[in-house]
Amino acid sequence: MHCPFCRHPDTRVVDSRSTEDGAAIRRRRTCSECGRRFTTQETVLLMVSKRSGVTEPFSRDKVVAGVRRACQGRPVGEDSLAQLGQRVEESIRGTGCAEIASHEVGLAILGPLRELDEVAYLRFASVYRGFETLADFEAEIEQLRAARTAVQQ
Ligand SMILES: [Zn+2]
Repeated sequence: MHCPFCRHPDTRVVDSRSTEDGAAIRRRRTCSECGRRFTTQETVLLMVSKRSGVTEPFSRDKVVAGVRRACQGRPVGEDSLAQLGQRVEESIRGTGCAEIASHEVGLAILGPLRELDEVAYLRFASVYRGFETLADFEAEIEQLRAARTAVQQ
Protein backbone atom coordinates (compact mmCIF):
# COMPACT_ATOMS: atom_id res chain seq x y z
CA MET A 1 0.00 0.00 0.00
CA HIS A 2 1.28 3.44 -0.95
CA CYS A 3 1.83 6.10 1.68
CA PRO A 4 -1.12 8.54 1.42
CA PHE A 5 1.20 11.47 2.13
CA CYS A 6 4.24 10.96 -0.09
CA ARG A 7 3.04 8.05 -2.28
CA HIS A 8 6.09 6.01 -1.29
CA PRO A 9 5.29 2.35 -2.15
CA ASP A 10 6.74 0.82 1.01
CA THR A 11 4.96 1.05 4.38
CA ARG A 12 5.30 -1.03 7.53
CA VAL A 13 2.58 -2.31 9.88
CA VAL A 14 3.32 -1.23 13.45
CA ASP A 15 0.11 -2.38 15.11
CA SER A 16 -2.83 -4.56 14.14
CA ARG A 17 -6.04 -5.16 16.03
CA SER A 18 -9.65 -6.26 15.57
CA THR A 19 -12.43 -3.74 15.93
CA GLU A 20 -14.66 -4.31 18.95
CA ASP A 21 -17.34 -6.15 16.99
CA GLY A 22 -14.75 -8.30 15.26
CA ALA A 23 -16.01 -7.23 11.83
CA ALA A 24 -12.79 -5.56 10.77
CA ILE A 25 -9.07 -5.36 11.40
CA ARG A 26 -7.34 -2.01 11.73
CA ARG A 27 -3.66 -1.68 11.01
CA ARG A 28 -1.48 1.20 12.08
CA ARG A 29 1.16 1.76 9.45
CA THR A 30 4.22 3.88 9.15
CA CYS A 31 5.89 5.11 5.97
CA SER A 32 9.54 4.14 5.66
CA GLU A 33 10.19 7.23 3.55
CA CYS A 34 8.48 10.17 5.28
CA GLY A 35 7.87 8.48 8.65
CA ARG A 36 4.23 9.54 8.87
CA ARG A 37 1.61 7.19 10.28
CA PHE A 38 -1.80 6.22 9.04
CA THR A 39 -4.44 3.56 9.67
CA THR A 40 -5.98 1.09 7.26
CA GLN A 41 -9.01 -1.11 7.76
CA GLU A 42 -9.67 -4.55 6.42
CA THR A 43 -13.28 -5.78 6.16
CA VAL A 44 -15.10 -8.55 4.37
CA LEU A 45 -16.49 -7.32 1.07
CA LEU A 46 -19.97 -8.47 0.11
CA MET A 47 -19.56 -9.43 -3.53
CA VAL A 48 -22.22 -9.59 -6.22
CA SER A 49 -21.69 -11.93 -9.15
CA LYS A 50 -23.22 -10.81 -12.40
CA ARG A 51 -24.56 -13.05 -15.11
CA SER A 52 -21.43 -12.31 -17.17
CA GLY A 53 -19.38 -13.99 -14.45
CA VAL A 54 -17.86 -10.71 -13.29
CA THR A 55 -18.02 -10.00 -9.56
CA GLU A 56 -18.13 -6.56 -8.00
CA PRO A 57 -18.60 -5.24 -4.47
CA PHE A 58 -22.23 -4.82 -3.37
CA SER A 59 -23.27 -1.19 -3.71
CA ARG A 60 -26.20 0.21 -1.75
CA ASP A 61 -25.99 3.30 -3.97
CA LYS A 62 -26.62 1.14 -7.02
CA VAL A 63 -29.67 -0.42 -5.38
CA VAL A 64 -31.04 3.01 -4.51
CA ALA A 65 -30.34 4.33 -8.03
CA GLY A 66 -32.27 1.45 -9.59
CA VAL A 67 -35.21 1.92 -7.25
CA ARG A 68 -35.14 5.70 -7.74
CA ARG A 69 -35.60 5.15 -11.48
CA ALA A 70 -38.63 2.96 -10.81
CA CYS A 71 -40.01 5.65 -8.46
CA GLN A 72 -39.88 8.51 -10.95
CA GLY A 73 -42.96 10.68 -10.58
CA ARG A 74 -44.09 8.72 -7.52
CA PRO A 75 -44.49 10.25 -4.05
CA VAL A 76 -41.39 8.53 -2.69
CA GLY A 77 -38.82 10.66 -0.88
CA GLU A 78 -35.08 10.25 -0.58
CA ASP A 79 -35.48 9.14 3.04
CA SER A 80 -37.65 6.23 1.98
CA LEU A 81 -35.17 5.30 -0.74
CA ALA A 82 -32.30 5.36 1.74
CA GLN A 83 -34.30 3.23 4.17
CA LEU A 84 -35.10 0.75 1.45
CA GLY A 85 -31.41 0.56 0.51
CA GLN A 86 -30.55 -0.18 4.11
CA ARG A 87 -33.21 -2.89 4.39
CA VAL A 88 -32.00 -4.55 1.20
CA GLU A 89 -28.39 -4.51 2.37
CA GLU A 90 -29.33 -5.86 5.81
CA SER A 91 -31.40 -8.69 4.37
CA ILE A 92 -28.57 -9.67 2.02
CA ARG A 93 -25.92 -9.51 4.73
CA GLY A 94 -28.30 -11.46 6.94
CA THR A 95 -28.00 -14.44 4.62
CA GLY A 96 -24.41 -14.76 5.82
CA CYS A 97 -23.08 -15.24 2.30
CA ALA A 98 -19.94 -13.43 1.18
CA GLU A 99 -21.03 -13.60 -2.45
CA ILE A 100 -24.50 -13.51 -3.97
CA ALA A 101 -25.88 -13.49 -7.50
CA SER A 102 -27.11 -10.17 -8.88
CA HIS A 103 -30.63 -11.56 -9.37
CA GLU A 104 -30.79 -12.16 -5.61
CA VAL A 105 -30.22 -8.45 -5.09
CA GLY A 106 -33.24 -7.82 -7.32
CA LEU A 107 -35.27 -10.32 -5.31
CA ALA A 108 -34.32 -8.61 -2.06
CA ILE A 109 -35.55 -5.29 -3.51
CA LEU A 110 -38.99 -6.54 -4.56
CA GLY A 111 -40.46 -7.08 -1.08
CA PRO A 112 -39.59 -3.71 0.49
CA LEU A 113 -40.44 -1.88 -2.75
CA ARG A 114 -43.91 -3.44 -2.86
CA GLU A 115 -44.56 -2.05 0.62
CA LEU A 116 -43.20 1.34 -0.41
CA ASP A 117 -45.06 1.97 -3.66
CA GLU A 118 -47.07 -0.48 -5.73
CA VAL A 119 -46.69 1.37 -9.03
CA ALA A 120 -42.91 1.60 -8.64
CA TYR A 121 -42.93 -2.05 -7.66
CA LEU A 122 -44.76 -2.98 -10.87
CA ARG A 123 -42.28 -0.99 -12.95
CA PHE A 124 -39.33 -2.61 -11.24
CA ALA A 125 -40.82 -6.10 -11.37
CA SER A 126 -41.68 -5.71 -15.04
CA VAL A 127 -38.03 -5.04 -15.90
CA TYR A 128 -36.54 -7.43 -13.38
CA ARG A 129 -38.83 -10.32 -14.22
CA GLY A 130 -38.97 -9.47 -17.92
CA PHE A 131 -42.71 -8.92 -18.33
CA GLU A 132 -43.55 -9.22 -22.00
CA THR A 133 -47.32 -9.03 -22.25
CA LEU A 134 -50.24 -7.30 -20.59
CA ALA A 135 -51.13 -10.68 -19.09
CA ASP A 136 -47.86 -10.59 -17.12
CA PHE A 137 -48.90 -7.25 -15.63
CA GLU A 138 -52.43 -8.49 -14.98
CA ALA A 139 -51.16 -11.53 -13.13
CA GLU A 140 -48.87 -9.37 -10.98
CA ILE A 141 -51.62 -6.85 -10.26
CA GLU A 142 -53.93 -9.70 -9.33
CA GLN A 143 -51.34 -10.87 -6.81
CA LEU A 144 -50.98 -7.36 -5.41
CA ARG A 145 -54.77 -7.16 -4.95
CA ALA A 146 -54.86 -10.57 -3.31
CA ALA A 147 -52.05 -9.60 -0.93
CA ARG A 148 -53.83 -6.37 -0.06
CA THR A 149 -57.10 -8.16 0.65
CA ALA A 150 -55.24 -10.66 2.82
CA VAL A 151 -53.82 -7.78 4.87
CA GLN A 152 -57.24 -6.14 5.31
CA GLN A 153 -58.98 -9.30 6.48
ZN1 LIG B 1 5.31 8.71 3.18
